[in-house]
Amino acid sequence: MEEMMRQALGEYFGYDSFRPGQEQVISAILSGRDVLTVMPTGGGKSICYQLPAVMADGITLVISPLISLMQDQVRSLIQTGIRAAYLNSTLTPAQQSLALRRASQGAYQIIYVAPERLSLPSFRAFAQRAPIVFITVDEAHCISQWGHDFRPSYLEIADFLACLPRRPVVAAFTATATEAVRRDIVRSLALRSPEVFVSGFDRPNLYFETQEPKNRDQAVLDAIARFPERSGIVYCLTRKKVEELCDILGQNGVQATRYHAGLSPEERRNNQEDFLYDRKRVMVATNAFGMGIDKPNVGFVIHCGLPSNPESYYQEAGRAGRDGAPAQCILLFLRRDIQVNRYFIENKGEENAGLTPEQLAAQQQADTRRLQQMVDYATTPRCLRQSLLSYFGEKAPGQCGNCSNCLNGQAPEDMTALGREIVLCVAELAREGRAFGMLALVSILTGTAGDTLYWLHPEHLDCYGKCAAIPPRKLKQAVQAMTDQGFLARSAGEKQVLELTLKATELVSGKEHLLLKPRTRKKPLPRPAVSDAPPDAALFDRLRETRAALAKRDGVPAFMVFSDAVLKEMCRLLPRSREELMQVKGVGTHKANRYGEVFLRVLNQR
Ligand code: ADP
Ligand code: ZN
Repeated sequence: MEEMMRQALGEYFGYDSFRPGQEQVISAILSGRDVLTVMPTGGGKSICYQLPAVMADGITLVISPLISLMQDQVRSLIQTGIRAAYLNSTLTPAQQSLALRRASQGAYQIIYVAPERLSLPSFRAFAQRAPIVFITVDEAHCISQWGHDFRPSYLEIADFLACLPRRPVVAAFTATATEAVRRDIVRSLALRSPEVFVSGFDRPNLYFETQEPKNRDQAVLDAIARFPERSGIVYCLTRKKVEELCDILGQNGVQATRYHAGLSPEERRNNQEDFLYDRKRVMVATNAFGMGIDKPNVGFVIHCGLPSNPESYYQEAGRAGRDGAPAQCILLFLRRDIQVNRYFIENKGEENAGLTPEQLAAQQQADTRRLQQMVDYATTPRCLRQSLLSYFGEKAPGQCGNCSNCLNGQAPEDMTALGREIVLCVAELAREGRAFGMLALVSILTGTAGDTLYWLHPEHLDCYGKCAAIPPRKLKQAVQAMTDQGFLARSAGEKQVLELTLKATELVSGKEHLLLKPRTRKKPLPRPAVSDAPPDAALFDRLRETRAALAKRDGVPAFMVFSDAVLKEMCRLLPRSREELMQVKGVGTHKANRYGEVFLRVLNQR
């Protein structure tokens, strides 16, 4: 079996070895086990179900949330020699019945469908007759109400499975799932004693950076200017900002296009293709863009605004560097982003129609907690990679050497002692039944509240004037950092006073430290190592031109012919024959047949 798997991997995808986790998942599926696989974006999930699909005797159904992307996914499979099709509302009724008829005749190995389709009588009738042996549920976290991306239509999957005469093997895939979401997936899909695979979340080729810039638009321009040759995505929180920033980029000579839910479906499709086909270098988008986009050569993902939770952030940022080449994930954060996100959380009503008030409250609480974690990431002076990985429950060393905090060169300032004084002060006020905002707190600690808070007789407090020797600016920074890092929380309601959190006790006990991110950077950040330049730039350019011509001929994006990584590998190995070409990672039998001769001609001319 292992041998056959390896052979199919080479034949269809041109790879000679599996990535961590892939082999185990595929073996489990082929031996008839249900599986739940948690793998980070860019980790290589697709092959985990595409390979069993081509090896299985029968039809594989892939349930995927976004119909706008199915066409690309299917096109890409056809490029690798796999018979695939999709069924969704973008097809005319005539096309749909033709596809179903061909599917019944065994024309396809893989069929992509959206979950809404599963309850259509015509589709059910087909599914009950067809030899469906394997079902993949992509983005499976969408089934969980407690997740960050709930889609009610996913709840119909279990019912669909139950209506099939023979239950196929079911494999669920997701890039983000906490323990609770994982349990939800297993239960809601009614998986049968599934094997659960959770692969490591680290993506070593990604560099992480956070900034709180003075002028954010300029910071976006500066960040893009670091990558003159590469394409990338800029995420914004609102449609309005997408429009504005896309214009600004255009005025500054950056070829940019845009994507958000307010555009017509045609324009969305066109803009998405402009980006996929490298006609536009930068995509400016809301989070509506990207799920299922597997453009491998995305060199950077910039967030112009704070995402609502670390799950979304890691998923969006993870769209950089799928090809394994060094890539950057930059978060440009401003304090007002927190308010915008709070507003989103409070006004999620539409999506959550049908939830009871208790469920709604629980969900808002979970959302608020996740937002706090995101603020923590944006402001932490600790290693950013470690911060993300530990959120996903993974241990990581304290220094990764490939994030802006590790490369900063300045050690964070330890303000634990000051933090303790602040905790004691807030606790003392709470015992008196009082709570205040940042400014009042600072004036009590510095002993300057005599006029403004005279009615409180603050001089009777133990903490009054306790920090008189410390500049108020420093105290404000400390209080701010304590809020960012979750030692203090703003109370709900209008007054927004500061309260202690459970974590605050760990500051007093010494389990946690209050570290302050160095605010100024003397030197610009060292550029992270980017050492994957091809050995022969001229040859690389000629190969790229060849690829562009073939892509145009076949009407597919360039990366579907071969990725940049494959072309670079060609420059290194300089294959002269078909056999040698097949040694290049990423060249499978099908693509060697289809494109080998043309590329060999270029390589042999060298
Ligand atoms: P995910 O769906 O988990 O986000 P993909 O399936 O899109 O990730 O895979 C990410 C990239 O890794 C793709 O470009 C894919 O071709 C590549 N890849 C996957 N498996 C392997 C492998 N075994 N060897 C080399 N590259 C791989
Ligand atoms: Zn680091």
